[in-house]
Amino acid sequence: MSALILDGKALAQKTETELSARVAAIKASSGLTPILATILVGDDPASATYVKMKGNACTRIGMDSMKVELPTETTTEQLLAKIHELNKNPAVHGILLQHPVPHQIDERACFDAIALNKDVDGVTCLGFGRMAMGESAYGCATPKGIMRLLEAYNIPLAGKHAVVVGRSPILGKPMALMLLNANATVTICHSKTVDLEGHIRRADIVVGAVGKPEFIRAEWIKDGAVVVDAGYHPGGVGDIELGPLSDRVAAITPVPGGVGPMTINTLIYQSVDAGEKSLHTP
Ligand code: NAP
Repeated sequence: MSALILDGKALAQKTETELSARVAAIKASSGLTPILATILVGDDPASATYVKMKGNACTRIGMDSMKVELPTETTTEQLLAKIHELNKNPAVHGILLQHPVPHQIDERACFDAIALNKDVDGVTCLGFGRMAMGESAYGCATPKGIMRLLEAYNIPLAGKHAVVVGRSPILGKPMALMLLNANATVTICHSKTVDLEGHIRRADIVVGAVGKPEFIRAEWIKDGAVVVDAGYHPGGVGDIELGPLSDRVAAITPVPGGVGPMTINTLIYQSVDAGEKSLHTP
């Protein structure tokens, strides 16, 4: 059996074509261009690259991005003031605060200051809680991107045993809740889990969100499983040892080109939605 490749790059490109048409429709009907405000605090090169990639994605679909760059020594109060200002600005439809922020800033307080209707990266506690309860809210971009990828390839989730390795607020935890909402039976594993290998051996769906290169070994994964790797490390490897799996699992996300492109795609997908909703909200 040759594994179905869950091609996030191709899906993201296809979705961008659809999003471009939706942005054009917003412009035609309102004269407005949807705007994503991106906030970068400090000068971390990786964060700067991510913010640039997000701005480029906006440009590709005809949206605008408003780049807010703040110095490393920014305080929590200063960042909160900027977020409140963007919340009140009717020209801004979505707000992205690039993680991580410098250590002196209370990142959680700043995430939670983002207005729910502009939380297009899905980082607020309120948005998480609403998603968990099955109420409408923008999903956290990486796990939501994974769900969109699984859905696009018609991967059955109901009744399947999903094992999510990792429980971070931006990935593992929301991932587990989204899979639960899709009627999977979910096990969440983390650094204190006993017998991780045993849990993974029983999984129909494995999501690797550990942050350690090829930490999840191919031999732990059963034949016919669906394998989702959120990791990306130097050398082009993920959190799962994918190489030996390609001819014995049902489906697999490649690294790179699987989960990664879906994260930014979900951010702009949700930003376009926020732009459309703002047209209908007085
Ligand atoms: P994180 O905040 O460092 O969380 C890692 C999680 O892995 C934690 O919950 C930790 O458990 C768990 N873990 C660590 N060692 C473990 C072990 N030995 N056994 C079982 N679990 C263990 O990382 P993250 O931000 O969620 O990111 C996870 C991965 O996804 C990384 O490779 C990152 O690069 C990638 N990622 C990709 C995207 C994308 O756009 N493609 C976006 C975000 C993240 P504890 O909670 O017990 O510490």
